[in-house]
Amino acid sequence: MASKGDNVAVCNMKLERLLSMKGGKGQDSYANNSQAQAMHARSMLHLLEETLENVHLNSSASPPPFTAVDLGCSSGANTVHIIDFIVKHISKRFDSAGIDPPEFTAFFADLPSNDFNTLFQLLPPLVSNSCMEECLAADGNRSYFVAGVPGSFYRRLFPARTIDFFHSAFSLHWLSQVPESVTDRRSAAYNRGRVFIHGAGEKTTTAYKRQFQADLAEFLRARAAEVKRGGAMFLVCLGRTSLDPTDQGGAGLLFGTHFQDAWDDLVREGLVAAEKRDGFNIPVYAPSLQDFKEVVEANGSFAIEKLVVYKGGSPLVVSEPDDASEVGRAFASSCRSVAGVLVEAHIGEELSNELFSRVERRATSHAKDVLVNLQFFHIVASLSFT
Ligand code: SAH
Repeated sequence: MASKGDNVAVCNMKLERLLSMKGGKGQDSYANNSQAQAMHARSMLHLLEETLENVHLNSSASPPPFTAVDLGCSSGANTVHIIDFIVKHISKRFDSAGIDPPEFTAFFADLPSNDFNTLFQLLPPLVSNSCMEECLAADGNRSYFVAGVPGSFYRRLFPARTIDFFHSAFSLHWLSQVPESVTDRRSAAYNRGRVFIHGAGEKTTTAYKRQFQADLAEFLRARAAEVKRGGAMFLVCLGRTSLDPTDQGGAGLLFGTHFQDAWDDLVREGLVAAEKRDGFNIPVYAPSLQDFKEVVEANGSFAIEKLVVYKGGSPLVVSEPDDASEVGRAFASSCRSVAGVLVEAHIGEELSNELFSRVERRATSHAKDVLVNLQFFHIVASLSFT
């Protein structure tokens, strides 16, 4: 575990060995800070359903298992609900077509540091073989076999032509790495004074855009080899409505305002050197529809059934919107649940505590603005493979 930090620069480490959302079930864990993602996913279920309608059903006498994958599953309940939804929907389609449903397998895939243990503990029990079919509709039970798959989705994860359906939500905006030029002080793309690209110079944002497009190209290449003919993919990632990549929308507000200011506080107070701050960059890029589309078209393996920007809403779940301190806490926890592991690897746990307490203080004093303006948009892609 790279959690001690002081001499560890995130940029020099293999990000994929390190990156994970905060594990466990504590206050700042992803499991405890992903209700908003759950709500955003629920609001898009009709789009997921449309994609599932495009998947080819195998009607042969003894078909192989129907295989669904969630890429970037993380360690909360969201992935379990999604897989459950997918299995139930496909199973119903088999029923309505008068075909005996095959068995189902679900793969939960994420980077190796993901807290798979917490995820596995959230899985409902498997129903016994004898009542697999009758119990399909019963809630609180699982009618599919599961396995966890560690590895980067920017490379191959499965044997060729073995997967019927790929799902990925809120994950593809994570880059495989911070582009090297962004942390190279001699480069024109050096991100001086900033920890994210929101409001950064053009050369810096261009380096991020290139990285995003190169990564997405690798992702599509790998999936095109793994998906069965007639299979499909439903992809959702953070996106932006502005054409200008220096305006990162909701992601920009999350990582480019109070989080940025809190880093500057640490520098001003002499707790962190300016260069140390500049060596930290959030490896996230919220693409425009155009950024995304160019890559899918260049890859050419998938037909675009739907490609839209969809309003997700606020990432914060607060019960008392008038309570500024609750809003500030929610902002800091939300930020820490996704970026905390990287911050700790860069400056250690103690300074990370200092940083996020400043994030909280700053967000508390701008609570109204945070509630109104922190809104996420998502790119939603429904792709099929023929
Ligand atoms: N899909 C979940 C979790 C999204 S959090 C939900 O809907 O709530 C984003 C997840 O993407 C994290 O768990 C992170 O580890 C994972 N991720 C980021 N880059 C990845 C990569 N290259 N390969 C696999 N998973 C990745």
